[in-house]
Amino acid sequence: MSLPIPDLVLRHTCVFCGEVWQTDRICERCLDTLPWNRTFCERCGQPVVEGLPHEVFCAACQKRLPAYDKARSPLHYAFPVDTALKAMKFHRQLMYAPAFASLLVSLLKSEFSDCDGLVAVPLHRWRHITRGFNQAAELCKELAKRTGLPVLDSVARVRPTKSQSGLSSAMRKKNLRGAFAINGKPVPRYPLVIDDVITTGATCEQLARALRSAGVERVGVLTVARASTVFRQGRP
Ligand SMILES: [Zn+2]
Ligand SMILES: [Zn+2]
Repeated sequence: MSLPIPDLVLRHTCVFCGEVWQTDRICERCLDTLPWNRTFCERCGQPVVEGLPHEVFCAACQKRLPAYDKARSPLHYAFPVDTALKAMKFHRQLMYAPAFASLLVSLLKSEFSDCDGLVAVPLHRWRHITRGFNQAAELCKELAKRTGLPVLDSVARVRPTKSQSGLSSAMRKKNLRGAFAINGKPVPRYPLVIDDVITTGATCEQLARALRSAGVERVGVLTVARASTVFRQGRP
């Protein structure tokens, strides 16, 4: 015999305003005010100024294409998203993981419908021990739960890297060279790399290269937010 589940158990509170909300953990009103990434480069997901034709890649991609085939981020790394992601990463506020995963899942279905596995950007073992968890893995877990996609857990950060913040783009690339290794097979044909925020794209670039060396055909990147100076408030 199954017991009836009290209505309250099925309800969640909005992670931004605390209002009791019955579906996902961000209420309609807060969704309306989030900094949505509405105009972006078709290839790398970098925000671009409005008016650029959709099929035209951004200046960086025109110069040199990234190792990943497509990157998308639903939000800009701006308030209150930046504050929430920092709280999740540094203060273990894990209630943000299912809230943000609900935004990622619709993008995953529309933009990466043929991907066949999820990869969380790994932390080096020592950073994982000191922080106690990996925020990308928490997002990955939520996405796996909602989509049924397998999580590839044979990706490792094989050497400790300095924190990327404060480093120039060239220094970030140097800092990350040879940082990732894929141990064991099989690898998915089209893995989707998951992280909280993409800044210069250097981390995803190195991970995509490692995945390609391991034999994958395509690599997608999906992050909650994208750091950029170009953004507009309002829902798409
Ligand atoms: Zn709210
Ligand atoms: Zn681009």
